[in-house]
Amino acid sequence: MTTIHPNDELLETYALGRLSEAEAAGLEEHLIACGACRDRLVETEDFIAAFRQGALETAPAAAKVLPFRLPRRTIWAPMAVAAALLLGIFAYQPHGNREGEPAVLVLQPLRGPEAGAAAEAGRPLVLLMDVPSETAAGYDAEIVDSDGGTVLRRAARLRDGRLVIDSEGLSRGDYWVRLYERRPVPEQMEEYRLQVR
Ligand SMILES: [Zn+2]
Repeated sequence: MTTIHPNDELLETYALGRLSEAEAAGLEEHLIACGACRDRLVETEDFIAAFRQGALETAPAAAKVLPFRLPRRTIWAPMAVAAALLLGIFAYQPHGNREGEPAVLVLQPLRGPEAGAAAEAGRPLVLLMDVPSETAAGYDAEIVDSDGGTVLRRAARLRDGRLVIDSEGLSRGDYWVRLYERRPVPEQMEEYRLQVR
């Protein structure tokens, strides 16, 4: 393990996805072994996410695709994974799916004939939505294709004051994203259009 802890600038560059493969690999090797730096990385990512969200809220466009990388905390979540990595139980390929990094889309409810958000076919998506109303019951999201078939239905997570759904890459087509509030009977709160090209 590298015993020199990365400085803030290096962590930030990494969180923005701007390190070279070699630099990122070296840093990841350190992160696997160093909990303190993983915590610092999470803080850095939170700061960047908050900053981007602030920038978005002032942007007038209906939907924006942001190229930034997702927080990598999911990599660290089960610490057993890191332990297994250290033991060499299975191969770890941090750069194996760099092309498959998710696109982040902000969905806005349709109020007119707008086209809705656009995404690239096959690319994993992170969909962000405003919380339509305060509720303790939570929300479920559903993605429906143009034939009315349900492609995905899962709980929407609340994060930084927004609802978040992760989706695998979708094939080309027009989709609806529906947001349901969990009540005794789920009630549709919003509908968003999503084009995948
Ligand atoms: Zn460290």
